[in-house]
Amino acid sequence: MSDRENAVGAVLAGAGIEAREARRLLAHLSGTSEAILAAFPERLVDAAQAARFRELAGQRRDGVPLAYMLGIREFYGREFRVSPAVLIPRPETELLVDCALQHMRADESILDLGTGSGAIAITLACERSGARITAVDRSAAALVIARDNAATLAPGRIAFIESDWYTGVGERSFNLIVSNPPYIAAGDPHLGRGDLRFEPPAALVAGTSGTECLESIATGAKSHLCDGGWLLLEHGFDQGAAARRILERAGFAELRTWRDLAGHERVTGGALNGLLVGP
Ligand code: GLN
Repeated sequence: MSDRENAVGAVLAGAGIEAREARRLLAHLSGTSEAILAAFPERLVDAAQAARFRELAGQRRDGVPLAYMLGIREFYGREFRVSPAVLIPRPETELLVDCALQHMRADESILDLGTGSGAIAITLACERSGARITAVDRSAAALVIARDNAATLAPGRIAFIESDWYTGVGERSFNLIVSNPPYIAAGDPHLGRGDLRFEPPAALVAGTSGTECLESIATGAKSHLCDGGWLLLEHGFDQGAAARRILERAGFAELRTWRDLAGHERVTGGALNGLLVGP
């Protein structure tokens, strides 16, 4: 490659991917800022870095999520390590965090089911210094990432357990249970598009209806919530009514659904009030 071909502007223009993503990727590889790259397009990129950039741009053109290539994704203003072992944290899930923060009191105990990268549990720990937080995942590989993120962002604040929903939690009860479980039906065409093609199916797919995990979590919550405790679940954009039905059947009251920034029903919650639950 000639010098001219390794100038920042030429390297970026030849990437064949979205300009913003190309700048982000090159900034990451060359250890500089996106602003510097934008301001000095004539500067030369080191030949080895340019070659690595072209290789990764090719992978991006094949659909590999940028977050997996960078190894990081921003969530609620903090940087989380991610790998193909975990779902890439989504902006919609920040709504679940906001709902949880509204329902948390200072020193309460919280359970995060299917923690993945740990984004929800760790954000709650960072935002509420007195909360006692337990986070579970049945994937050991996901827990490695979650523990690593916790060590950086909220050291010593979260108890992690390898557990298939409640199986490893024992008899404990919590004031609040939160979860962004898998909620896509097997065979849903969305699974063949975008980032979802590269994310762990176990973090995305919930049986043939998409609501299996919402049901398991709601049913099991009864024996793991304190009186008056809340359950908050993220779900698919078209699952609001189903989620309310599931929570109602599981004995929850004060049902409420919140919409995400795109206007979709995205989080449904309810309280487990001992007085309202039958025998
Ligand atoms: N919100 C994700 C999507 O549809 C799915 C995440 C999940 O199943 N929990 O891309």
